[in-house]
Amino acid sequence: MDRLHLTLASADTIAALQARRPLLWTNLGRAPDGLPACAWGERSIGMADVAAAANRFARFRHVLCRLFPELEDAGGVIESPLIRASFLQEALGVRPFAGHVFVKADHGLPVAGSIKARGGIHEVLEFAEHLAVAHGFASEGDLAGLLSPEAREFFGQYQVSVGSTGNLGLSIGVIASALGFNATVHMSSDAKQWKKERLRKRNVAVIEHSGDYAAAVAAGRREAESDAKSHFVDDESSLSLFLGYSAAALALKSQLQASGVVVDERHPLFVYLPCGVGGAPSGIAFGLAHVFGPNVHCFFAEPVASPCFLISMLDPSGGNPAVYDIGLDNQTEADGLAVPRASVHAVSTMRTALGGVFTVDDERLFQHVHTAAVAESLRIEPSAAAAFDGPRWLTSSDEGAAYLERHGLDQCMANSTHIVWTTGGLFVPESEYQAFFERGAISKQRMQERAGSIGR
Ligand SMILES: *Cc1c(COP(=O)(O)O)cnc(C)c1O
Repeated sequence: MDRLHLTLASADTIAALQARRPLLWTNLGRAPDGLPACAWGERSIGMADVAAAANRFARFRHVLCRLFPELEDAGGVIESPLIRASFLQEALGVRPFAGHVFVKADHGLPVAGSIKARGGIHEVLEFAEHLAVAHGFASEGDLAGLLSPEAREFFGQYQVSVGSTGNLGLSIGVIASALGFNATVHMSSDAKQWKKERLRKRNVAVIEHSGDYAAAVAAGRREAESDAKSHFVDDESSLSLFLGYSAAALALKSQLQASGVVVDERHPLFVYLPCGVGGAPSGIAFGLAHVFGPNVHCFFAEPVASPCFLISMLDPSGGNPAVYDIGLDNQTEADGLAVPRASVHAVSTMRTALGGVFTVDDERLFQHVHTAAVAESLRIEPSAAAAFDGPRWLTSSDEGAAYLERHGLDQCMANSTHIVWTTGGLFVPESEYQAFFERGAISKQRMQERAGSIGR
């Protein structure tokens, strides 16, 4: 505890976190313009970098189509639909005058099956593009040569590696091996068996580490440092990952326009994103802040056992505490979010931009997996359900009301849009999915019985 530099106000929040009580924390440090810090370590970043990432995806469309036939219909674009979710809205108890609920369906992103398709694939494409251009296999204007047998053989001298709880490994492993790189994924021992098997089937080397996610990352980083022909995708500090995620903001802008959704000072946009190390939600929030300025409000969702991003936000000294420092154990069924320590760079970008963070317990995740299926036929994994309570927290809690009032939004909520980001699930094996679904059904039934017995 004494390693945390706490203000008096945050002591209450820490106590609630230690008790594993789900909560909403809102950020008093959000700037009036809602803009993030435009720096990643020493490097300054901005809208041009977001656009550059989107352009890279566009340049690679033909290459991606050739590598992954499932992208043919979409013309090589890796994107997910924005879905108006009225049944989910009702099931979550969000009343019509609180705004309209949408789902951004990244749980079905092709190739990787999760939000990691954005950051992970972007970073490997960037690495491949630089190598291919520098060695004369392709040019920025014409990347076709990148698929030549010569280029593949050349890539085969290189190693792409990553440390992962699962989904990032799936994304990096699949795209790296498809391009001809040697791919190695360092996983924590608690990573799901089916994710390891899926990678091994694609000739990706999977190395298992006893210890948590941070330990797997450290091991991968160490091994890559000793090899000049090795590229390590660093989930805690990679700018390329972050910018790959940020490009989602431009796609979302078009989708909102196509759905006739207005975003301005009378029509606020609220976006709820599951958060692990913080790269994916911060990258997306960074892009969105550049597109929508102060009219977008992003909230991150973390498991009660792993609120690493929140405790970093609570530490104004810029320290980077681990959840273990406040006595939490990082044990959660949300394997995509089981991260003990947040990315320092991601936290730094968000201090002046983030709306807030809320926490969710595992039982609730399973309930939401079930609700997503019955209300909207969405097949998602537990991590991907973390953000479902966001609209309720914001529109039906004291902390949420205080936030809305502070930002002068309490009078325009009927015009507001809430986007719940679902982040993974496509490749979850059927038997595992059935177990999630049934656990959610039983949990909801018990909750109703409890509510009934209190009523009597
Ligand atoms: C990785 C992941 C996230 C969060 O991304 P971070 O960059 O770790 O914050 C959310 N949901 C799922 C399903 C993920 O795999």
